[in-house]
Amino acid sequence: VTATDLALADVSRLEDIVDKNALVEVCRSFFDLFSLPIRVFGVDGGLLADVHETRDVCAYVNGYEEGREACARCVGEVKDLVPPPGDVVVHPCFTGAVYRIVPLEYQGRRLGRFVVGPYLPAERREVPRTLLTIADGIDPNRAREALEEMPRVRQETASRIAEHLSRTLDLIVFSGHRALLTTEMHLASVRESYRELAEKRDQLQNAYDRLKELDRLKSNFLATVSHELRTPLTSIIGYSDMLATGLAGDLNGEQQEFAETIRSKGDHLLALISSLLDLNKLEQGRLTVERQPMDATALIREVARDLGPPAAKKGVTVEAEVNGPLPALRADPIRIRQVLFNLGENAVKFSPEGGRVRLSVEPYEEVADDDDGAGLVLLAPARAGLRFSVSDEGPGIPEAEQAKIFDAFYQVDGSSTREHGGTGLGLSIVHRLVVAHGGRVDVESTLGQGSTFHFTIPDEDEA
Ligand code: ADP
Repeated sequence: VTATDLALADVSRLEDIVDKNALVEVCRSFFDLFSLPIRVFGVDGGLLADVHETRDVCAYVNGYEEGREACARCVGEVKDLVPPPGDVVVHPCFTGAVYRIVPLEYQGRRLGRFVVGPYLPAERREVPRTLLTIADGIDPNRAREALEEMPRVRQETASRIAEHLSRTLDLIVFSGHRALLTTEMHLASVRESYRELAEKRDQLQNAYDRLKELDRLKSNFLATVSHELRTPLTSIIGYSDMLATGLAGDLNGEQQEFAETIRSKGDHLLALISSLLDLNKLEQGRLTVERQPMDATALIREVARDLGPPAAKKGVTVEAEVNGPLPALRADPIRIRQVLFNLGENAVKFSPEGGRVRLSVEPYEEVADDDDGAGLVLLAPARAGLRFSVSDEGPGIPEAEQAKIFDAFYQVDGSSTREHGGTGLGLSIVHRLVVAHGGRVDVESTLGQGSTFHFTIPDEDEA
């Protein structure tokens, strides 16, 4: 819709532009001021406003059948009379009264007309013959009395009143039209914004579909490649292990060292490939969590013990801490161990020499967040379970990165990452495994002071 379309917005119907009540109000105030009956008709002849009082003379002639007919004829003529553009027509009634019919126009288009009257031109003194002879039995005195009660207006005054009303109505039409235009313009712009939004939404949807497809391809690719790599790798590890353990004969010191390096790098590679496969399974929802009773205290001590030797090489100490009596834990032992170990490994990896890594566990209880208002919080079931924490005294993670490190392959840019190596898969697996248990993982970190990762394992839902 363009501005020109709007300017031509349908202004041919008075009733579409102005409020009918406003029209009636204006007519009424004119009636109150001048005692002149006023009717407003739309372009198609519909009556839009009508303010009048029945006059004695009208009531009197309507008492006679011929009078009734003549009256109906006259009113009909007035109703059907369409004055030529810009012209005012004064239509006489047989009673001597007149009707003044004024066209209503706007921007050169006819909108309708209004009728002032019947009123008696002040210039008229006599009771007209047309009234006296309209029916047998008309009493000239009664007729005169009845006519006396009719408002008397000089034609010139009537003309000025009509003109004034005409201007007032013009004004109402003008402001009505302006309001209409504003509304239409507003609607048009809303429609346009909606269209634009719909277009953007479609584009986004397309992009999203494409990304999903790419993601699926990537997953398939990863799965295939990882699988194909694992088979030969198993042989490499097996044979290097046999060599290193002397099954194929004695090796000299250097040979022994090489075979051990091959095996340890092979192990590393296998762990990496397993991570990829795990992630893939998690992404596709194929990895199921098998909960069973487990001992959180034993778990945390065991993980701390396993992390000890590699940490010691860096001069890092690993501590386990159990806070308070713990409720029973039901979780997937392999997966929970994997999560804790992964976080612990990161903590050791990012610890400076002489740093301390602490693994801890404690009971927790929380009221489920419910945005529906305070009332519901009381009703919301409390979640309880265990909360594990892994803290280090490493470089910390910038706040802006804290949400991203749980994405697959994401690594905080900078020398520290390159210095420490890694794939960027660990935390994303941690995140998914914790979520699969219905828990949450988050990180608190201060740059230069260290990081603490927390994860919760809530009790199983009874449902
Ligand atoms: P990786 O350690 O193999 O790079 P992760 O998914 O485990 O992958 O971690 C992603 C990134 O998060 C790391 O590369 C590192 O930038 C940051 N990060 C993880 N743990 C820590 C930590 N304890 N201290 C500082 N940065 C960390």
